[in-house]
Amino acid sequence: MPPVISARDLTKTFRGGIVAVSGLDLEIEAGVVYGLIGRNGAGKTTTLRLLMGLLRPDRGEVRILGGDLWSAPRSTRHRIAYVSQGQQVPDWMSLTDLCRYAAHFYDRWDRDIARDLANRWDLPWNHAIGRLSGGQQRLAALLTALATRPGVLLLDEPAAGLDPIARHSLNDCLIEALLRSDGCTILLSTHLIGDLERLATRVGIMDRGRIVAAGEVDDWQRTVRKAQVVFPGEFVPREFNMPGALRSETLGPVITAICRAPDDTVWDAIRTRYGARINVFPLTLEEVFVEMFRDRPTDPVNPHPGDNEGEFITISGQPGIRVDKGDTCRVGGAFQSTAPPAQRDRD
Ligand code: ATP
Repeated sequence: MPPVISARDLTKTFRGGIVAVSGLDLEIEAGVVYGLIGRNGAGKTTTLRLLMGLLRPDRGEVRILGGDLWSAPRSTRHRIAYVSQGQQVPDWMSLTDLCRYAAHFYDRWDRDIARDLANRWDLPWNHAIGRLSGGQQRLAALLTALATRPGVLLLDEPAAGLDPIARHSLNDCLIEALLRSDGCTILLSTHLIGDLERLATRVGIMDRGRIVAAGEVDDWQRTVRKAQVVFPGEFVPREFNMPGALRSETLGPVITAICRAPDDTVWDAIRTRYGARINVFPLTLEEVFVEMFRDRPTDPVNPHPGDNEGEFITISGQPGIRVDKGDTCRVGGAFQSTAPPAQRDRD
């Protein structure tokens, strides 16, 4: 089955030469919750707006439910809902007015879902939306999106400003949307990585306008570890390559690394061969994210470099982590530094 959402070589440069999205590739299968994470300015919102056809790309192609939204028929557009980061709903309308209004436009509008969500989220029906709190206004926008029974739901930081109870309830509602007989595919951007870990099937990490690492959430949780290897001598042996390292630091005889290791046999092999002591710690997705971007300088002149800089590594069949020249990051499979070994030893 073709992916429900796909983008190929998607690129958008804003006035002033800011490359917000740069050759982005993405494929999302039916029934998946795909979480997009990345630092501020990584290009998440621009990507969602490009996918929704709210911005024209400079280059590349977008397909949602088989076509791009510029030319999609009404019946297709009605199956796609989007809640933007600062979604404005007409503030003079009440929730009753808003639902009546939306029901005219959406063939699949479901009054029962609207009523159920308003009850669960304790939203008043007859107050002007402009007089509700910021979080309640956000929930009203999410309610209208969910009540359209979307086949595809794009959410830009949906839980921003929601209290923890509302956030949990929103996650439940998204899961219910997924489990409905007609199903749903969800793409959401968020900085709440802990929430995402419980909700998402796949996660893509954006950096400088493209997805630099992606994979199944379960797979990240099962395989990514922080490992500390202490060698018996004064230095790390020159020929040693840390298996599956996303990032590593060397200090004398100690390598500390964030690694993708499918199982423990890899550590046993290092112990046996080098007589090293090894400590392995599990990491949350948020910790992996922090480790990947910690201390990573941003080029102040061009924070979104062009296509030809750096190289890409593949992890789980997806475009992988960016390797800038001279960086000592990652590699799916075996660790390699782009710096020569002699320099690595000095680092
Ligand atoms: P955040 O997590 O802070 O919401 P983001 O990952 O969603 O960030 P974007 O909003 O997509 O990032 O912005 C990506 C880059 O594009 C930023 O450098 C931003 O300044 C720039 N940008 C976004 N929209 C515009 C615009 N309309 N005009 C000019 N530059 C823009």
